[in-house]
Amino acid sequence: MARIPDAVLDDLRARNPVHEVAGRYVALRNKGNRWVGPCPICSSNTSSRTACRFEASADKWVCAVCCDGGDVIRLIECIEGRGFREAVEALVGDAEPDPAEASRRAAERAKRKEMDEREVAERREKERTRCRDIWRSGIACLPGSSAATYLQLRGLNVPDTRSLRFVLEVPYFHPGPDGKARLIYSGPAMLAAIQDAICIFRGLHITWIDLDQPDGKALIVDPETGEQLPAKKVRGVKQGNAIRLISGCESPSRLVLGEGVETVLSPWTAMHRAGHDLSQTAFWSSVDLGNLGGRALETVPHPVETGRNGAPRRMPGPVPDMSVAGMAIPDSVTDIVLLGDGDSDRFLTGTTLRRAAQRFAAPGRTIRLAWARDGYDFNDMLRNAVEAKHEQ
Ligand SMILES: [Zn+2]
Repeated sequence: MARIPDAVLDDLRARNPVHEVAGRYVALRNKGNRWVGPCPICSSNTSSRTACRFEASADKWVCAVCCDGGDVIRLIECIEGRGFREAVEALVGDAEPDPAEASRRAAERAKRKEMDEREVAERREKERTRCRDIWRSGIACLPGSSAATYLQLRGLNVPDTRSLRFVLEVPYFHPGPDGKARLIYSGPAMLAAIQDAICIFRGLHITWIDLDQPDGKALIVDPETGEQLPAKKVRGVKQGNAIRLISGCESPSRLVLGEGVETVLSPWTAMHRAGHDLSQTAFWSSVDLGNLGGRALETVPHPVETGRNGAPRRMPGPVPDMSVAGMAIPDSVTDIVLLGDGDSDRFLTGTTLRRAAQRFAAPGRTIRLAWARDGYDFNDMLRNAVEAKHEQ
């Protein structure tokens, strides 16, 4: 079959801005020259106004849960589960390409791409500095601090770790209807450091705390819409990085890896209380589900959920795309336990853990999946003393 000329592809991309195409599937919110919202591939609530896993500009998109991204053609490939050529055909429709118009748009795109890359690099470095300043203003999560009391409220022991800190005052910014960030809340928070493979600080996981609330998390409400916002935020770069909650030793032989901080601290607390020898065991949080499995090679149909057209919703599949680096696991680890929590979609969690298992596979290394009981997450299980289910 003839190769599709680059000029035709560029024209197609220019005529189909990513945020407009994605916006036909989900409700996106404008944030300057970016759009955020639920993901047209993996979100079940397509009209959620607080979702922010998906981010798009005119030229590209990225989803934190799919751990995928690319141009508009890649987006259609993933949403519709089509091959490259079919996705191109779907976008072409009946329109005749105009070569003069195509080259004008291609030049415009190249200019925008160059500006984008510079801007992204600058923004990333500024954000890392801001995160580092917040982290430096924190103190250790010692017993008696609000962060320690928050963990205890969740039934957790307070670990002696350098990865968690407590800060008295962290501002919470949220975009208003015009897309500009507004300061809508400020208060005490627990910080978790996000580090890369060689332990360099890359970002922060922030949990705002209010010990007067039943679950200890701050109640944060958008003053304009009255909508309740998540009490947790991730800032900086998380992709391929991790929160090294409990390190065990420098070269741990076992790694327990799960999505959230409380999820991972739950089995640690249970094992710690039961008197297990944890000197060789590390406990890490991947910050979010997508980062646990890394990018998938392709999407697969969800067995139950359907999209707007009644066709099965596509989800990131179980096979990892090894051309995109995932989280780096220390060579010393010979036993990995992946935690499958019940608070995300079960099918999506399953494909993600299988992807992680393939990604982290190495000679002489065992990888096990530990699932929370149906209807529970690991933290509920800790508080209710329920046993996990193990799979090889
Ligand atoms: Zn997604």
